[in-house]
Order: sequence, then structure tokens, then C-alpha cells
Amino acid sequence: MTKADNTLQKLLEKRRSAGLLRSLKKPTDLIDFCSNDYLGLARSPALRQQIQQAVFQYPALLNGSTGSRLLAGNSALAEELESEIAHFHGAEAALVFNSGYDANVGLLASLPQRGDTLLTDELIHASMIDGARLSLANRFKFRHNDLSDLENRLKSATGAVYVAIESVYSMDGDLAPLPELVHLCERYEAALIVDEAHATGVFGTNGEGLVQALGLEKRVFARVHTFGKALGVHGATVVGSAVLREFLINFARPFVYSTALPPHSLLAIRSVYRFLPQCQALIRQLHALRAYFQEQIGVHLPQTEWTSDQSPILGLVVPGNDACRATATQLQQAGFDIRPILSPTVPAGRERLRICLHAFNSESDIDRLVQTLQEIMYVHE
Ligand code: PMP
Repeated sequence: MTKADNTLQKLLEKRRSAGLLRSLKKPTDLIDFCSNDYLGLARSPALRQQIQQAVFQYPALLNGSTGSRLLAGNSALAEELESEIAHFHGAEAALVFNSGYDANVGLLASLPQRGDTLLTDELIHASMIDGARLSLANRFKFRHNDLSDLENRLKSATGAVYVAIESVYSMDGDLAPLPELVHLCERYEAALIVDEAHATGVFGTNGEGLVQALGLEKRVFARVHTFGKALGVHGATVVGSAVLREFLINFARPFVYSTALPPHSLLAIRSVYRFLPQCQALIRQLHALRAYFQEQIGVHLPQTEWTSDQSPILGLVVPGNDACRATATQLQQAGFDIRPILSPTVPAGRERLRICLHAFNSESDIDRLVQTLQEIMYVHE
């Protein structure tokens, strides 16, 4: 072992002894209550066929993009795709990023300048946190979904003001109070940035996201839509004004300094956007399944605490890392792919089983899950 390996090993040991060592999970054939493939598009043969056709039919297709979009990596395909995405999302412009992580880092690191203010919900995703850390602006967190705490921060904010939130929170599955947030930001002339990672494909008639489902698209400064969750492929986009797009092309470092997505990825993204209008029934099915699950919880699992009932992400609170991990293991042994979310990822005492529903889960999957949970949780009664 080299000296560097030794140092790393010590850091890993520290994590292991705290019971928090992460490892890559083995692929399983358990019933999927874990993935972000909310509509099942990642496994859809119909979408796969459309992607294959698009790739075969595309003339002079390069295997790779060959560089940053600012060098050789731009293409008519990328620009046309962005126009199509902007149109779909009711925005003036769109810019594709290699991932949601890149989009959030690019946005938050580049938009607010020194002397400006960046206000972030305390539960925003790590990618937004990392972007905010790189920003030279004054940064403050506000309490989760707390409008009065945000308003207090807005009152004392300096320079241009940006507010960053998620429309569907990834760990709790609850929704931001978007109409109220939009109104508050307008009153203080703050630019609202909404990460729609877990709302894309899930809310809106065609999966346009929660902002559009509520008709607020003209009143939100920037939205981030990711393609790796309900859309079943990979990559992300920022949608907003043409000025925002031009700014990001110039200043968002993950965009400027990284090789662009390859043409086959762009074609996959284009295929899924064209496929979404055929997914209305799947989206309705997903929400119907959520309603069914909640009904069953009400009947068979009273006295259990859930982090939200508003989205396909449902967190069953099982306080304590050991208890939460043990319950997850029992569920996995019973055939369900359900993972524990432990502290410090979530606050101590709020450890939970994160259950993600999908359009392809069946009512009988849910019945079995509820029955198993009942057996595990009420075993001492
Ligand atoms: N935002 C949120 C809320 C997320 O949950 C994630 C993915 N976990 C991302 C952004 C990052 O998106 P991507 O996986 O495309 O990098």
C-alpha cells in the first residue's frame, strides 16, 4: 500500500466504524421499489426501438461528440434538440448538460456574483449544494419549505437575489409550495431556480414537470429537468430565457469544460421527448398506484409515519440507523428492493425507508409490500 492508499484507508475505516461505509449494491432481481425509473421508460421496449431507429437513421453519425460544445462538440442535432425541449417546456430556450449534477453545479456556481445573494432550501440536492459552494455570492439556507423564514432572508438580501429549490424533494418526496414561492420571489424581485429532477415525467399531462402542471412556467427564472429518472435515459437541461442560455454557454464551467454528450445520447433524449405524449396513461397509472398505496397504508399500517403523500417517493420513518437498516434487510429478504436512508444523510431520528413507486408496479406488489411491512412492524404486538 502506498502512503496515499494508507491515508485513504484510514478515512474509510473511520466511516466503516461509524457504520456508514457506502458500497455499490449488487444488481438484484427484487421488485423495484427503489429506482428513479418512475414510468418504466428505462425498460420500455417501445422506447428502445424508437431510439434504435433514430440512431440507425441518423446520417453521418459520429460515435462521440469530439469536444466541448464550444469547440468541435456542437451539432445541428444538439441545437435542434434544445429548440424542441424549450418548446415542450414552454420556455424561450434550453441548454443540455451532461447530467443533472452538471446542470445544477453550472447554474448555481455561475449565476450569482460576488455581492449577490443565493438563498437555498435546506433540503436541496447535493449537486445544488456543491454549485452554491463554488459561488462567490453571499449564501444562506432557509428552513425547508418555510415561506416566512425565506421572507426574512429576502428582506435583508443584497445585490441580485436567487432562490434555489426542488419542486419534488428527492429524499422526502414532498412538494415545494410553488405558487406561494413564485409570488414571494416576485414581491422581492428574486429569481427562482427550480430543480425538477423528480417531477419531470411525473407531473403534468405529458410529464412536463410541476411548474408547468401549475401553469407557472413564465414566472420561474430557471428550471432543471433531468433525463436519467422518469425519462429513462441520461443527461439534463436548463430551461429559461435566451439570455440565461447564452450566459450559461459562456460561464457554466461544467458546460464549457466538458466533452458534450455523444450524438446517440442526444438521439435517445430526442426520442424520449417525442415519446412522452404517449405516456399520459402511464403517468395517470403512477398516480393511481400512489393513491392505492396510501389507501392501503391508512387501512393496514395506521400509526406509521411517512415523510409525504404527494409524490411517488414515499418515506417510511423508521428511527435509528440500526432499526432502519434491519427493516430494509428484512424487506429485501422478502423480495423488495427498498433501501434505507440513514443519518447523517437525513437528520438522526428521521431515518427512513425510501419507497419509490413506478407505473409498472402492480396493486398486488403493493398488497404484498404492505402485508410484509405489517408483519415486520407489528411483530411485537
Ligand atoms: N437533482 C436532484 C434532486 C436529484 O435527485 C439528482 C439525482 N440524484 C440530481 C439533481 C442529479 O441528476 P443526475 O443524476 O442527472 O446527475
